[in-house]
Amino acid sequence: MNSGESKLREINNLKKVSNIQTKEEIFRILSDKHLLDIYETISRAKRNGKTSQFMNHRREDFNFRTKIDGVNNSADLMRLWFVEIRNPNSNFLVLNKDGKKICLDEINTNVWNNQKFTTEYSWDASFSGCKHNGMPCNCLKIRKPLIDLSELN
Ligand SMILES: [Zn+2]
Repeated sequence: MNSGESKLREINNLKKVSNIQTKEEIFRILSDKHLLDIYETISRAKRNGKTSQFMNHRREDFNFRTKIDGVNNSADLMRLWFVEIRNPNSNFLVLNKDGKKICLDEINTNVWNNQKFTTEYSWDASFSGCKHNGMPCNCLKIRKPLIDLSELN
């Protein structure tokens, strides 16, 4: 390696360090690029009577230089983003063409982190529990009590 190359490598390394992105920057990018698309795919599946939809995403789309606590890979980042965009008060929601705020509340997500980077989206209202035994989904892991407790008082 000549000194020119070594200098270039040094500059590139510096650039990388300064390219570390904050959670806010990344969430904005992810919402702008993916939220409406995911929402519309889910809406289409709902209209067709389905209660779940699988989508293969691009792992690279969720790969950022960042130092967010607990985020070590694309799947971690995607799961964290889902927590954010399920919150109706999030600052990282987007508007659709009718000006409606798009949020994934009431949508359960399960990022498989497999080869095809599949995510399972589900919204079966007739089933209140979680079907993803031991998997890192974000279902509310609460089953409705089978007995109405008020009757026992
Ligand atoms: Zn689940």
